[in-house]
Amino acid sequence: MTKKIFENDPYMKEYTAIFKNSKMINDEKWFSFDQTIFYPEGGGQPSDYGVIDDKPVLDVQLIGDEIYHKIDGTIEKKRIKMKVDFDRRFDHMQQHTGQHLLSAVWLELFEIKTVSFHLGKDVCTIDLNTSDLKSNQILEVERKITQYIFENRPIETYVLPYDEVEQEKLSKLKETPAFVRFVEIEGIDRSTCCGTHVTMLGELGLIKILGWEKYKQNVRLSFVCGLRAYTYFQEIFSAVTEVSKKLNVSPSLVAERFSNFHQGHQLLKKNYQTLYEKEIYHEAESLMNLGEEVVEYSWEDRPLQEMKDLAKIVIEGGNRVVIFQNIKQKTWIFASSSSQLFNVATCIQLLKENVGGKGGGNPVFGQWIGDVNKPEWLKIKNSLLQNSIN
Ligand SMILES: [Zn+2]
Repeated sequence: MTKKIFENDPYMKEYTAIFKNSKMINDEKWFSFDQTIFYPEGGGQPSDYGVIDDKPVLDVQLIGDEIYHKIDGTIEKKRIKMKVDFDRRFDHMQQHTGQHLLSAVWLELFEIKTVSFHLGKDVCTIDLNTSDLKSNQILEVERKITQYIFENRPIETYVLPYDEVEQEKLSKLKETPAFVRFVEIEGIDRSTCCGTHVTMLGELGLIKILGWEKYKQNVRLSFVCGLRAYTYFQEIFSAVTEVSKKLNVSPSLVAERFSNFHQGHQLLKKNYQTLYEKEIYHEAESLMNLGEEVVEYSWEDRPLQEMKDLAKIVIEGGNRVVIFQNIKQKTWIFASSSSQLFNVATCIQLLKENVGGKGGGNPVFGQWIGDVNKPEWLKIKNSLLQNSIN
């Protein structure tokens, strides 16, 4: 049985332990020691990282009552030196303790129970046993949490013999251990837990709820604690500051100013659309006024959407075939008032078969991208127009 030093002293960063044995798991060698400062993955908390004799620790798992360490290298000595990645450990301590506090406050204020916890790489989540949340509930929970953190209440961990534990607490356990470990936030929460926690609530600094969504029968709430909350604040702050400079208002007025800005933008877009439609219709009219059945036109470069809009109006206005070309983009737009007059799909098919390129469409509208020389193109075009006359 490996002695878990992290249970009694989660702040221990370095330790000298004795190598016990090794075990092959999935063709890899894992190592166990008489004691360890490395937390194994469990209870929603990922495993610790660090080094053992300067070799990186890649994973830590509890198998039975032994803790096994996957190391990038091997163990050659009896006495080894462990060093835990304490930044990562302390982050996990903050997130995990934050989860206890958050879950306790949801229960205290709204009688909503937590059914699961996940400590993610960037954000943490808890699943709350409720079908819906209201924004004022989130605000109330955040206020209460912040108050408890400011009160800097102590957190204690201890074990009790299995027989002395209340039935209600035992229902959460998957096994029947001789002793049950508790973590208790003074006056707020007392839970069975195997994770690592801070010893004073003040060490959390801040907890921020980021959002929630419906998940299965529950609500999944995402949050960050401690340094993660500070980093989140920094990111939001610099983004808002940048926008506030551009809008030339103080950060607190950004939302209001942006809303005005957005309304103005929508109006401009609407006006632009009206002008665009007028303009493109006018242009189509002048093409139709040429009185030709086959309207051919090419531009050095022009937005394809404009070319398509123009083509549609021209074929709607009478019996016509439209052949537009964007020279720079090597793109052709074909449109026809009817497939009997000029079959666009057949035209694109012939181009692809005889010249290559790519494209597609239906019998009355399509697009082709490729290179075609003039004689080849005239042959294809005339054969299709000829067919329609016959
Ligand atoms: Zn815990």
